[in-house]
Amino acid sequence: MRLGVFGGTFDPPHVGHLLAAVDACERLGLDRLLFVPAATQPLKASRSAAPAADRLAMTRLLVAGDPRFAADPTEVERGGLSYMVDTLRALRAREPGATLVLCVGADAFARFAEWREPAAIASLATVAVLARDGNVPGAAALAAVPGAIVVPVRRVDVSSTEIRARAAAGRSLHGFVTEPVAGYCSTHALYRPRT
Ligand code: ATP
Ligand code: MG
Repeated sequence: MRLGVFGGTFDPPHVGHLLAAVDACERLGLDRLLFVPAATQPLKASRSAAPAADRLAMTRLLVAGDPRFAADPTEVERGGLSYMVDTLRALRAREPGATLVLCVGADAFARFAEWREPAAIASLATVAVLARDGNVPGAAALAAVPGAIVVPVRRVDVSSTEIRARAAAGRSLHGFVTEPVAGYCSTHALYRPRT
């Protein structure tokens, strides 16, 4: 079994994540792809994020329509700073027969050397860098990670940062996130305009 792992803050999860995951899943021949929301992303620990339980719930809503996808609570349940190496070790223990493929966007991969135990990550999983239309990692950065591969994915120019800003400005999220995620944001008053 080829098991993909797609980590992120998912604050909120959006259509860019979803379409990148579809492309990666198909190009990499993955049987399953787990979206893994971080409890606290170590490289973003200085800024506050929506509660982890809400980000997990929204990620579940985002992926609900695709049987290949699931939202995985490993990092949220572990709590604290979320290190991918710990998550991969937990998945390896849980799914000993699976080949793990770690999907990382090119922007996130740019800081891969700062992650905890990058060499261990590269030995636990094949690192697949999701390259959006020309946004390809440098040859040296790629060569530094044994076995890393580049996977072209379509370009969907949307980010959680932009979505939070839209919500804070009172603008609609329609088209940026799926309808269930938009509904969750409004029901739970996430990213609300400051009053
Ligand atoms: P933020 O703006 O808060 O950084 P984000 O939209 O980048 O949020 P993250 O949760 O940081 O979302 O990203 C999780 C993973 O998804 C990372 O590997 C990132 O590179 C990738 N990613 C984010 N946005 C897109 C997109 N539009 N298309 C493809 N991959 C994306
Ligand atoms: Mg990001």
